Amino acid sequence: MAVPAYDPENIFAKILRGEIPCSKVYEDDYVLAFNDIAPQAPTHVLVIPKGAYTSYDDFALNASDEEIIAYTRAIGKISKAAGVIEDGYRLIANTRDHGRQDVPHLHVHIIGGEKLGLMLPKA
Ligand code: 5GP
Repeated sequence: MAVPAYDPENIFAKILRGEIPCSKVYEDDYVLAFNDIAPQAPTHVLVIPKGAYTSYDDFALNASDEEIIAYTRAIGKISKAAGVIEDGYRLIANTRDHGRQDVPHLHVHIIGGEKLGLMLPKA
């Protein structure tokens, strides 16, 4: 099954184009990171590649080595700068329908700053 086409009107594409503001925490040539507008914990940062990738699998299959290295390194730098490394945190990449992904531009959530609930609460 093919990866769905990228929608350039998704909200994170608009943030990347500067059409919508964000609370930026990190930026380099390949990556932008900003605070989630509806934080689930004291630290809740979204890390996105600047390239047009819908999901982690799309990125892992189709991005260049340079983009993948930059994204992975950025996640390390941002986690360190956010101060969550020692106590721990959760890294989440919700993916498409079953993963309940709302915004179809790859993003990982870095969530921490307090002890989190169960990963998949039964509800
Ligand atoms: P998903 O469900 O796709 O994994 O997560 C999307 C996340 O994006 C949600 O946590 C939501 O709060 C966040 N979000 C949605 N719209 C905006 C926005 O305009 N700005 C920021 N900073 N976060 C957003």
